[in-house]
Formats: sequence, structure tokens, C-alpha cells
Amino acid sequence: MQFIQLLQDNTAMALVIFGLLGLCVGSFLNVVVHRIPLMMLYGWRQECSQFMSEQADLPHEHTLPLKNIVAADQPITLSRPASRCPHCSHKIKWYENIPLISWLVLRGRCSDCKASIGLRYPIVELVTALLSVLVIYQFGVSAAGLSALLLVWTLIALTGIDFDTQLLPDRLTFPLAGLGLAVNSQGWFVSPTQSIWGLLLGFLSLWIVVKVFFLITKKHGMGQGDFKLLAVLGAWLGPMMLPLIILLSSLLGSIVGIILMKKQGESKPFAFGPYIAIAGIVALLYGSEIVSWYLGMYP
Ligand SMILES: [Zn+2]
Repeated sequence: MQFIQLLQDNTAMALVIFGLLGLCVGSFLNVVVHRIPLMMLYGWRQECSQFMSEQADLPHEHTLPLKNIVAADQPITLSRPASRCPHCSHKIKWYENIPLISWLVLRGRCSDCKASIGLRYPIVELVTALLSVLVIYQFGVSAAGLSALLLVWTLIALTGIDFDTQLLPDRLTFPLAGLGLAVNSQGWFVSPTQSIWGLLLGFLSLWIVVKVFFLITKKHGMGQGDFKLLAVLGAWLGPMMLPLIILLSSLLGSIVGIILMKKQGESKPFAFGPYIAIAGIVALLYGSEIVSWYLGMYP
């Protein structure tokens, strides 16, 4: 408690400490982004194989290939097995795993096989550190500040996972929605009533857009995960922030979408979740300023 008091009294010290904490969390988020999709894949295979083996009318030779794949899957959790180089399986030692510094010292290469380590790892660490500093600067070392950190960190993980796999796992969005309702039962960001309306309207607003889009074009424009993510942001920030989040994410998504289409020629599967997450972080940090600036233009 004394330490928290010290940080509350000394803003510069708090920013440095939360910046360093952000680097370490960013390093962990790299693991989350890599491993959660694998954990989900292995889980689905297991369920599928179990389901197939329970079907009496399915010949044994049809269920066997998947059974063999499941048997060969190595069990994986967020903490186990220890990280290894994907190229040479060299076990990464603790001093090769220090956020940012190890990447710089190793010059972005594996210490054993010299295969390059993606620039994405230090970028995720840096962005997490920077956003952690901004959150603490904006909310202080308070209950709201610390819970906002959890929101932003999880949004970073969701951004990475959606970018890689076009998935926004329920195992992250559901607890985050629950946490939004819980923190706002104390009114840390919006009132409890606004939080509940935010959750409902966040989900429904995109759901309706997608249903209408489907009726007109017979195409699915967006995934269920996107509705759930907007519901999460509604639960945290209330319904008043939803128009800003939808507007910002559509704007960002269209700009990046057009650039990608020009670059790649054809339209590939496009993850919209990252833009909702980025817009959500902007709304969390500067939403009230942006909305009052906008309303100020029309007195
Ligand atoms: Zn290696």
C-alpha cells in the first residue's frame, strides 16, 4: 500500500515503472498471441476426434488420420513448454528473453542458428510499454488506471490474434466483457446502467449492420467476434462511445483495406477486430475530449 502511495505521489516514477512493466507484459503478450490460437486448434482437433469416434456409422479408417494427428500434438499452455527458436529448437535462455534489450543485443537473430527474429516482437513490447504509460498518465495509479491497463493489454493480444488468424477468441472477449460490467458496477468509467446498455447496443449495432448487409449482398461482411468485441467496449466505455468507436474503426479499416487491396490486387480475408480494438483504445484514452471537441463545433 505504501508503494502505491509513493507512485501516486510521484508521477514520473510511476510512468517509468509502468513503462518497464509494459515491456515485460508486451513480451508475455507475444506468447499469448502465438499460443492461444494453437491451444484452440489442438482443442478443436481433440473435440472433433472425440466426436468422430463416437459416431457408430463412421468407418474406423475415416477416424484414424485425425486420431493420429491428435496423438502427435504436443500439449501446450501459456507457460509450457519453454520458448524455443522455431527454426533450430534452441531453448531460449532467460537472458535472451529480456524485452527489447535481448532483441537489440542479438541484433534480431537467434543466438544459435542466426535465423532472424521478427521485428514484430520488439514492436509489440514497445507499443505495450507506450500504451501502459499513456493509461497511467491519463488515469493515474488508481483502480480505474489499473483496470484500464488490463483492458488495453487484452486488446493488444486480441489485435495480434485477429491479425494472424481472423479469430477473436471467446476465452478472451467473454471474461473482458464480464470485467467491464464488474468495474462499472463501481462506476469507474461509466454508471452500471450505461455499462449494461453499452454491452447490449455494442453487440446489436454491428449485428444489425451485418444482417442488413447479408440481406442485400448475400455475403457475410463480418464475424461474430467483431460484435462481441464491440460489446466488450460498450460494457467498459458505455453506449455514448460506440458511435466514435464505429466511426474511427471503419475509417481506419477502410484506409488500410484500400491500401492492402491495391498492394495485393485481390481481396483477401480481412480482420476488422484490430481496428475496433485500436478505436477502443483511442476512445478509452481520449474519447471524452474528442466527443466534447466535436460537439463544441456545433454549439
Ligand atoms: Zn535458432
